Amino acid sequence: SAAVKEYDLAVIGGGPGGYVAAIKAGQKGLKTICIEKRGTLGGTCLNVGCIPSKALLNATHKLYEAKHDFKEFGITASEISVDFKQLMKQKDNAVGGLTSGIEHLLKKNKVDYAKGAGKFASDNEIDIDLLAGGTERIKAKNIIIATGSEPSPIPNCPADEKYVVSSTGALVLDKIPKKMMVIGSGVIGLELGSVYQRLGTEVIVLGNADKVCPFLDGDISTSFRKSLEKQGMKFILKCRVNAARGGPNGSQVDLEFPETGKKETHDCDIVLVAAGRRAYTQGLQLDKVGIITDKYGKIETNDHWQTNLKGVYAIGDVIKGAMLAHKAEEEGIAVVEHILGEGGHVNYRTIPGVIYTYPEVASVGQTEEELKAANISYSKGLFPFQANSRARTNNDSDGLVKILSDLKTGRILGAHIIGPNAGEMIAEGVLGMEYGASAEDIARTCHAHPTLSEAFKEACMAAYDKPIHS
Ligand code: FAD
Repeated sequence: SAAVKEYDLAVIGGGPGGYVAAIKAGQKGLKTICIEKRGTLGGTCLNVGCIPSKALLNATHKLYEAKHDFKEFGITASEISVDFKQLMKQKDNAVGGLTSGIEHLLKKNKVDYAKGAGKFASDNEIDIDLLAGGTERIKAKNIIIATGSEPSPIPNCPADEKYVVSSTGALVLDKIPKKMMVIGSGVIGLELGSVYQRLGTEVIVLGNADKVCPFLDGDISTSFRKSLEKQGMKFILKCRVNAARGGPNGSQVDLEFPETGKKETHDCDIVLVAAGRRAYTQGLQLDKVGIITDKYGKIETNDHWQTNLKGVYAIGDVIKGAMLAHKAEEEGIAVVEHILGEGGHVNYRTIPGVIYTYPEVASVGQTEEELKAANISYSKGLFPFQANSRARTNNDSDGLVKILSDLKTGRILGAHIIGPNAGEMIAEGVLGMEYGASAEDIARTCHAHPTLSEAFKEACMAAYDKPIHS
């Protein structure tokens, strides 16, 4: 048999964590291989996550605007209809273009790409079960596990990906459902729920907490729920789902209200199970080499993403922390720098979170509730988009910017935005926090007029002094 190929670095998983690490390593001159079993690169994010969901959110938001907003601007679009197949095709085209782009980037940076499933043969050897058939063994001085996550199933709600679907199935439905029950009022449930709600589906979101996205700042969560309800999304909160069944003649969800013991069964066409995600390590043969996972199945790592096995690292959704593509990417670069002895650091306090609904919700740092619980004295600045000239001009002025800063030093501790373009605007808060800016620093920074970003500046003014326009 052929000689075992030797690498400086083997990356298992071609998602945003893995492919970024592989490209960075290639740029640094490490002999690198990236192993991916899906058949395409980009991981959950590009194939069944961030990108396809954003494509559908963008398309359906245009539909919403055409139906509800055009009139006010004097634009008549009398016959608006949806070609669902084409809408799905645009999403597939976007995904296809981006995944093949990553393949090109690996090549450009001289990274080998193996299409197959990697598993540990020994501490520094990996067997790749190739998609094309056969198994290839490679040897690597360093190994990064970036195998990501998968949807968490919930008891008695088995997903058939046709009637009871996970996010993956929800991205490829063959027709627009009449009624959808969404189990889970987190980011994925609300984003995909929004997509179908805009397409005319009756969407009911089930949550066990008393608010939507309970991790959000309280003011933002309350405002968020109101906005979604105004669009027609319905919520049943403080409930527990006991079972869900699906079929061609209708699906059902059995739920219970723990406070009262009351039980209900709801009929629908599609049940979307969006109750979180869990680390994916199946097939890696971690036991064989003794790599330790925690009680949630996540691979345990130290501050330098090292597992308990020398030379083996793990990053992204498969380890602790926020399950976000940009968090995985930051770790991908930092771990390679660490391997090369070039430092490598991720500031976990400044990782933004964005919900790409309408309006968008974006935040970074601590919420007001967290500051209260930690007994930190803070100052608060609020600025509504109602008072922002660009938002008013655009007839798009739902929402607000909320800045939380340290009462003594003025340093920004948290930025929370609900409103148009919140996902882009949060970058200013992230940059400010990364550089240790105070609210006053940003308030005294010139912002172009008329832009939405002036709302960010004015919320900072409100946090240390007074805003001008509100
Ligand atoms: P993954 O992207 O999961 O990639 C891991 C890869 O490893 C997979 O392709 C898998 O096939 C491969 N693999 C696993 N085992 C093996 C093996 N043994 N051998 C070879 N390959 C293997 N995050 C955001 O930041 N913004 C968003 O807007 C956003 N939207 C999302 C929407 C949805 C519907 C979902 C489901 C997720 C979304 N996420 C979003 C989360 C984001 O997709 C993940 O945080 C991100 O993909 C994690 O990257 P990763 O590299 O750690 O893992």
